[in-house]
Amino acid sequence: MELRDLSDHVEYRAGRGIEEVARELGRDPSEFVKLSSNENPHGPSPKAADAIRAAASEVHRYPKAVHADLTAKVADRWDVTDEQVWLANGGDGALDYLARAMLDPDDTVLVPSPGFTYYGMSARFHHGDVAEYPVAERDGEFALDAESVLSAYDGERVVYLTSPHNPTGARFTLDAVRDIADGVDDALVVVDEAYGEFADGPSAVELLDERDDIAVLRTFSKAYGLAGVRLGYALVPESWADAYARVQTPFAASAVACEAGLAAMDDDAHVEQTVESVEWGREYVHDELDAQTYESHGNFVLANVGDAEAVTEAAKREGVLIRDCSSFGLPECVRVTIGTREETERAVAVLNEVLDA
Ligand SMILES: *Cc1c(COP(=O)(O)O)cnc(C)c1O
Repeated sequence: MELRDLSDHVEYRAGRGIEEVARELGRDPSEFVKLSSNENPHGPSPKAADAIRAAASEVHRYPKAVHADLTAKVADRWDVTDEQVWLANGGDGALDYLARAMLDPDDTVLVPSPGFTYYGMSARFHHGDVAEYPVAERDGEFALDAESVLSAYDGERVVYLTSPHNPTGARFTLDAVRDIADGVDDALVVVDEAYGEFADGPSAVELLDERDDIAVLRTFSKAYGLAGVRLGYALVPESWADAYARVQTPFAASAVACEAGLAAMDDDAHVEQTVESVEWGREYVHDELDAQTYESHGNFVLANVGDAEAVTEAAKREGVLIRDCSSFGLPECVRVTIGTREETERAVAVLNEVLDA
């Protein structure tokens, strides 16, 4: 049996887990810290963990009511209608729904480079093509502005903006988002706010009041510490009304995920603590790491270490897993997720030793 032509498709390479690396090096997993996947080092809210346990005995039922409850809670949180909330299996799942809703075969999407791999993957799954706009370094900063997006824009149907941006930590202003939406032609602008909780600026959700050509992506994977349950959502224009019912895989978010999300949203203190610890850690890495770092609005810091692959390998041997950004097209940079205070201090100490060697 021949598959369809998958030669343009690329594999998503998730950061490797501690168990995997420990096994490879013949070491004990407890010797490692994982700061390579932008996870929440404090874990999920205890309330969410309790909700997951409590959901266990009810999982023989399809998640109809709880899906509606979480949709309503998210809608209330953002002051949008229930129809504007597209729950999904992770933010990635929501990207798929947007592609389903937007793309005809051979439509093209515009994605940032460097950037999050899944935008392009999702477009290709939906028979789309992919073009890129540059996120370029200028004077020690990665510039996310309307001009670099619009000068690359050539009639694409969806434009992806990551704000805060992974892996650089930079962000778009809302004015830039507005200018981009004004400057494109019958295109949806997707503002990916997977790291939105860590930035102190306003969310692009407020633009949904004014316009029907923007969608915003949010996730429970990062600040909420629920990466393993797979829960995220898109907030879409009000005029799309019943489109979700036509594109979603039935019961897009599982009962366990919905219960976890509901409980997590009732624990603001956990998110606040997480954000505070990230603010501390970004400062610390910026001040203490003996390498050039870039200002970050996410839960990670990008650092220019010269030879990213060698530094990532050497840090791994010292028990610290970070992300080599070569695959993002940044062979001199590593991305370090902010861990607990202890983990972040250890990572910086190890990296400084490696850089000094
Ligand atoms: C982590 C991340 C997402 C969403 O991840 P999910 O776990 O699928 O919710 C989306 N965009 C970016 C840029 C991310 O880093």
